[in-house]
Amino acid sequence: MIVDRQGRRFRNLRVSLTAACNYACTYCVPDGKRLVAAQDELSAQALVRGVAYLVEAAGVERLRITGGEPLLSPRLDAFVQGVAGLGLSDISLTTNGQLLARKLPLLRDAGIRRLNVSLDTFDPTAFRRIARGGDLATVLAGMEQARAAGMAIKVNMVPMRGQNLDQVLPLLEYCLERGYELRFIELMRMGHLARDGAAFLQQFVSLEQLLGLIGQRHVFEQAPRPLDATALRYSIPGKGHFGVIANESVPFCRTCSRLRLSSTGWLHGCLSSGSRHYVADLLDKPRHQALPGLQRLLVKALADKQEVAFSGDVMVMKVIGG
Ligand code: SAM
Repeated sequence: MIVDRQGRRFRNLRVSLTAACNYACTYCVPDGKRLVAAQDELSAQALVRGVAYLVEAAGVERLRITGGEPLLSPRLDAFVQGVAGLGLSDISLTTNGQLLARKLPLLRDAGIRRLNVSLDTFDPTAFRRIARGGDLATVLAGMEQARAAGMAIKVNMVPMRGQNLDQVLPLLEYCLERGYELRFIELMRMGHLARDGAAFLQQFVSLEQLLGLIGQRHVFEQAPRPLDATALRYSIPGKGHFGVIANESVPFCRTCSRLRLSSTGWLHGCLSSGSRHYVADLLDKPRHQALPGLQRLLVKALADKQEVAFSGDVMVMKVIGG
């Protein structure tokens, strides 16, 4: 097992199935152009081998499938079927929900029971302005169908001043009524927001501001959470829970256990580090040849983690997923 001086190790793996996305969210894609798949995206078989090797070499236990938009990938079927047999303790998926209804049977058959669905607003006009793609009603219908199919749903919302702060309470209400757990993600200094501090600060909403807003309507208390969880969790007695991923306000780098594999075969040990490590060539090799090289790169990837706090990076989320 590869462990650093702070006791951190890679327990949670996120695989970006494709860089392509049918949204062009303002905080992710500044020029508003839809993202296409990278030309050198790996086959489903290579990515499944990657997960299997990382389970063995790094002790990965849990997998989250992300993107880009993972449900757009032509490799989705083969990938979810392949990873279903790897003995992971949990497989979940993050999606914008546009294709959710169509892909539900596949996801369920592969044993996926947990979904994170991104939704920044309920207001159709604001939805078009922020997501710049897709359709609000389709996301809501997809979530309903997933709920009816027994999926546990978390809704990801990035609160932004001047964009969707008026949606915090309505979205929370909607989620509490349906048993979805709303996850507020503090805006991160990624991509263009890492370069443009003024644009970041103009929109950034801190944990304190967010809790102040929620406190106007609800009484809540902090709830227990796993040691390496990224989200702070709050309980609203008798109604449900919500979470906040407070990268800036309460950094969680000291306990971070995440490892990311891109669709083109790069390992990222930290979202906030410019370093990445190419493993695609190793994934073509049989296990006994691949593992020693992979272990050397994992040591480097673990050393990329920040000591204390997230500082952002020009790398764009679309490439590596959230
Ligand atoms: N397409 C999928 C989706 O929409 O959920 C998966 C990829 S998307 C990059 C994953 C998550 O990252 C989304 O919930 C999105 O809101 C979040 N995200 C992207 N850029 C971000 C930023 N700069 N700050 C905070 N969250 C961000």
